[in-house]
Amino acid sequence: MATTLQEVDTASQIIYLDHAATTPVREEVLDAMLPYFSEAFGNPSSLYAIAGESRNAIDEARSRVASVLNCRTSEVVFTGGGTEADNMAVKGVASTFDEPGDIVISEIEHHAIIHTAEQLEKDGHHVITVPVDRYGVVKPTDVSSRLGDSDAVVSIMFANNEVGAVNDIPEIARLAKEHGRKTGKNVVVHTDAVQASGKLSLDVKTLGVDLLSLSAHKIHGPKGVGVLYVRRGIKLEALIAGGGQERQRRSGTENVPGIVGMGMALALAENERQQFCQRTRELRDHFLAAVTERVSGVVVNNHPQNSLPHIAHISIPGLEGEPMLLGLDFKGVCASSGSACSSASVEPSHVLIGMGMSYELAAGSLRFSFGKDSREEDVQYAVNALSEVVGQLRGMPSMTA
Ligand code: PLP
Repeated sequence: MATTLQEVDTASQIIYLDHAATTPVREEVLDAMLPYFSEAFGNPSSLYAIAGESRNAIDEARSRVASVLNCRTSEVVFTGGGTEADNMAVKGVASTFDEPGDIVISEIEHHAIIHTAEQLEKDGHHVITVPVDRYGVVKPTDVSSRLGDSDAVVSIMFANNEVGAVNDIPEIARLAKEHGRKTGKNVVVHTDAVQASGKLSLDVKTLGVDLLSLSAHKIHGPKGVGVLYVRRGIKLEALIAGGGQERQRRSGTENVPGIVGMGMALALAENERQQFCQRTRELRDHFLAAVTERVSGVVVNNHPQNSLPHIAHISIPGLEGEPMLLGLDFKGVCASSGSACSSASVEPSHVLIGMGMSYELAAGSLRFSFGKDSREEDVQYAVNALSEVVGQLRGMPSMTA
């Protein structure tokens, strides 16, 4: 029987379905990190034995990451998260151009890329935004056809954080590189793979990219640590000057526990990738089928094939995301909406608007993202909760004038 809002005791039941926002640090990762906060606290740049322990731990983490990316250890740069890796990639390359260049991004990039591109535009670079289809997927020729006669950084995300759309990065990179060869211009290809890690293969040789960003906290690692893969031979100016750590690319005393956590989280996520995909796809598909049956008018926004397995993205016409999220939260269900609150107004997400969605549907959208520990019971509970919240909100007089 469905629960009612009055019966809810959130303390007893938290159903976390927001794994695309962040994930809890898993036990194996925490265990690997803990010694580097205390007994093995040495600064990796110092000469005594405990510093050597920190250095070895970083080396080991770098090897783990390099093995997942199928690259050299010297091509792995640890950063302070996905946002920093994205900034470092796009700004770092654009700063090496002799003349202002083209910054080619898609309409549905994360703000870490969009706002970086906007900053570069102020410095005289030319930002070119590539459209997406109704599911959020970029057509590879739409990227190459927009490249001109300038040096360029192409930054197209591997998988989108809101709707889970997956792009054909190998084809985008191939066409962009071909254009670079034909024109004799420097075309450098970056992909933001923050949401793809643990879900899609990150083999950089197959992807054909020059730069790739990752973040630990989406795969049960710690927050505030990430990776930028920088292919050998790619010129990149450092964003942060200082002691020259990370082969002069990212100065600052290394976040040793964080780096250890990043390496461990990525290795585990890669080992469990097939199993994760199968399990979350089943949960997601079941969720979508049940929601469609229980809640009238639901629109499913995921691409039928090219979508991350664990993200369910829906719109409920006539309702707004925020009251639905509050109702769900009241029932102990954590999800997210496609809206970002800015002052008093709720702005629909640029991703959904970029996909051509109406403001009404975009405003009434919700994302549920499943994780490795999500259970069938969670799906059922969340569907019941959503169906009830929607029922209650539909029964209320409209709050908008
Ligand atoms: N890129 C994408 C696609 C993301 O989803 C996120 C995080 O939400 C980021 C970049 C930023 O990563 P971080 O939170 O590690 O700065």
